[in-house]
Amino acid sequence: MRGRRKKSILLASFIVVCLFLSFLIFHNALETNQVEEGQVSAQPVLEGDQTKKTVAPENEAKPKRALPSPSPKKNFTIVIDPGHQHHANNDQEPVAPGSKETKGKVSSGTSGISTAKPEYELTLEAGLILEELLSERGFEVVLTRKENEVDISNKERAEMANEHQADLFIRLHADGSDDSTVKGFHILTPAEGHPMFNQSFEASKVIFSAVQRDQSIDTNGISFRSDITGFNWSKVPTLLIEMGFMTNQEDDQNLSDPNYLRKLMTDVAEGVVAYSK
Ligand SMILES: [Zn+2]
Repeated sequence: MRGRRKKSILLASFIVVCLFLSFLIFHNALETNQVEEGQVSAQPVLEGDQTKKTVAPENEAKPKRALPSPSPKKNFTIVIDPGHQHHANNDQEPVAPGSKETKGKVSSGTSGISTAKPEYELTLEAGLILEELLSERGFEVVLTRKENEVDISNKERAEMANEHQADLFIRLHADGSDDSTVKGFHILTPAEGHPMFNQSFEASKVIFSAVQRDQSIDTNGISFRSDITGFNWSKVPTLLIEMGFMTNQEDDQNLSDPNYLRKLMTDVAEGVVAYSK
């Protein structure tokens, strides 16, 4: 009797241990599964509609993670041109294909009235921030330059955008004026007659609205231009962002503030996301 009882106790203990182990394995599997799903939902998802599908919670108790910003279409390429360069090149180039009118290849731009920062340095700083913000949002991003010591004409910059078949060619500049009270963010867009007039104007409007919503940034409109070499040689939608006036003390100091510049570029990036939809 004692032997059989001992066997029963052993058997019962064995069953309890087995049940406990099964519970542990099952519980662990559940946890692993949750982590993997969480990681998947944290990945940038390229197709907007799939974002909802991927993160649709099957179980409300699962941890929710912050969603990435609305994602652009797949393979949406942005070419960013940080305007100007350290040394101007005054050799001439046609302002448009087939045009007899010429302009200097590239200038060194304006400079800050109180910071003395050259425009070509500011546009590169802004370009590198915008590259980072757009890459994070899933765009393919190409910069026409990553250094100040380059020699790339405005026509050549447009041709780089054409070669990359850019979905949008964004040119970054800051303005200068004889009147130091003139200030504010504005956008230049190709005038009617440009082969990409409609798409460029649409992008300009959407990006302008995104910046205008930001109460901390002064905005003063969109201008149509037919005299800009970098527009006229572009076969892709394009626009030129004038981030502010470096000849205005407030704009100049704001643009040299890394937080202000990042905020402005974040607004621009959100505008690009909206345009890409
Ligand atoms: Zn400029």
